Amino acid sequence: MKIFNLNRTILFLAAFLPVSMLKGADARSVIGLLDLTRPGLDKVAGYYNAGNDSLATVALLDYYRHRTGVKSIGVDPDNPQLTDRERKWADDGMEHKFYVHDGYQPSYFYGDDIDWQYWPVKDNELRWQLHRTKWWVSMGKAYRVTGDEKYAGEWVAQYRDWVRKNPLTEFEGIKDTDMENADNVYFAWRPLEVGDRLEHQIEQFSLFLPSEHFTPDFLIEFLDNYHRHAEFVDGHYSDEGNHLLFEAQRIIFAGTYFPEFRKAADWRKAGVDILTREIVKQVYPDGVHYELDPRYHPATIDIFGKALAMLNINGYTDEFPPEYIDVMRKMIEFNYNITFPDYSMPMFSDGKKVGKSGSLPRYKSWLKISPDDAALKYFASEGKEGNVPDYTSRAFENGGFYILRNGWGPAATVMILKAGPEGEWHNQFDNGTFELWIKGRNFFPDSGSFIYGGDEEVLKQRDWFRQTSVHNTLTLDNKTLEKRKSNLLKWETNPEVDMVVVETPGYKGLTHRRAVFFVDKKFYVIVDEAYGDAEGDVALHYQLLPCDPLENSVNKSVTTAFADNNNVTVRVFGADRMTAEEGWTSFEYRQKNRRPAYAFSTGKKKGEPARFITVICPVDAENPLNHKISADYKGKFSVDGSSLEVTVDGKKYKLGYRL
Ligand code: MG
Repeated sequence: MKIFNLNRTILFLAAFLPVSMLKGADARSVIGLLDLTRPGLDKVAGYYNAGNDSLATVALLDYYRHRTGVKSIGVDPDNPQLTDRERKWADDGMEHKFYVHDGYQPSYFYGDDIDWQYWPVKDNELRWQLHRTKWWVSMGKAYRVTGDEKYAGEWVAQYRDWVRKNPLTEFEGIKDTDMENADNVYFAWRPLEVGDRLEHQIEQFSLFLPSEHFTPDFLIEFLDNYHRHAEFVDGHYSDEGNHLLFEAQRIIFAGTYFPEFRKAADWRKAGVDILTREIVKQVYPDGVHYELDPRYHPATIDIFGKALAMLNINGYTDEFPPEYIDVMRKMIEFNYNITFPDYSMPMFSDGKKVGKSGSLPRYKSWLKISPDDAALKYFASEGKEGNVPDYTSRAFENGGFYILRNGWGPAATVMILKAGPEGEWHNQFDNGTFELWIKGRNFFPDSGSFIYGGDEEVLKQRDWFRQTSVHNTLTLDNKTLEKRKSNLLKWETNPEVDMVVVETPGYKGLTHRRAVFFVDKKFYVIVDEAYGDAEGDVALHYQLLPCDPLENSVNKSVTTAFADNNNVTVRVFGADRMTAEEGWTSFEYRQKNRRPAYAFSTGKKKGEPARFITVICPVDAENPLNHKISADYKGKFSVDGSSLEVTVDGKKYKLGYRL
């Protein structure tokens, strides 16, 4: 497109205009925030020092339009890629139907006179994420792709409207008060949202900068608002977690993309210090991020990676110590270990369905961080380059993820078991649960998260998905775990069998010990023993993918019945009852699918353990329906270990462990 270069005309005209006509925000104080001794700013400095703020402002816009040497990662303003979805967000945005969240589509109408406090569903995310103004970047891309100035005119109008209606008032006093009564500033100025705007206003700035609507006055307003944002983030870092990481990454972006601000070096340093400190605090030694969430884990790698990349391309190299890269490499390694061969990932904690379209671009981008990782190369190239790892099953003991797999390709069988430490906010009460993927089908997808926080109604929906009983694990009286910390007791792999034994003292008076054997690298035997003083109903829960399975309450089994001959049978020994339960799995925000779920339960008396053996067998061409399965313990319960004998289709397996 042809970019209308207005600035020189304005520069000429401005010389004849009174200052007040060009004055929007206070140009003198805003320009005063800049280090005018920087190369390229001499003209601005000249006018400014002579007291001519109007000409200084015009010269400043001219400087930004011709500035070279500062780069950004993310959207390339000269070659923006506008997807069909983004084009819709841009066009809807023109009509004040703002794209806020995938879970709330079609987008709501926020009024001809925009109501930034409109909150049609009391889900906090809907209110918070409005203030990320995601459609503005789409409008910027649409502007560049079409050359239509209407996008730029509307962006400037909406930007000014936002600034006017969402002033930064006292935040500290209300940030911990009740949501219902919280002032708008709580939502508009939550540090996570402010940081988000810091990052994406860089993209908006670069996309709209050539527009005739991007006037010198507007530049002053923009810089004024942007500086306020950066200072706010720098003064209100979250205490911990991914929010803090996002804020640190984004203050680095601010200090790197706008190095003209006197505070820029301080912002960069603050961000680097936080990320350097947090990467070893938030990531366990085995590379697992402490939210124990397969969606936040890769997002966290991206945060660390983006901060590094942004600094590097702008010449700020060696800001981070070598350990920073080492930790990221370990995080990447963990990431491909908990990815199934179709590039999907478990939906543990606040996870959602992530597929190839989400995982593959990440792997490609991570090659810059870990170029010598042959396995990463393999996954990033969809097998065309590199090699699969030289191992199959793998334990991540600190994070509590245990992967029992027989291969890396589409014909593999992969179980990912989760039984780790306390974790953080996103972590659920799901110790001992697993997902199991066989030949392209995830037979036990996690229930997911469905929705985040909000009013009572929203929280009730969220809490359903966080319950222990909606996972593939054990409960006492169907209650959610009181403590969600597990310990690894044993991990062993050999050509015949992989084994993991974990223990969760999750209730007062009840400890759940779970041993999983991956037998012949073909089928799984799960040994659940619940011991302690507690009395009550002990139940083992299994949640299948949405399907219509064959149930057998007499022999306590359930078998899927897919026509493609890729099925599993689940058979439980030791239960008195098999009961159908309410089952849901949520692949996307606010979407849920009914699915079969079962409790296999027995009454537990004081001092006596409850013991179950589950056999999960593939049913396929090699392993036809109606497996003949039997299983029993050899000997009484002992905390020192268990021995059992399992027979599948006439073949006997002696299994067990000693601690
Ligand atoms: Mg879950």
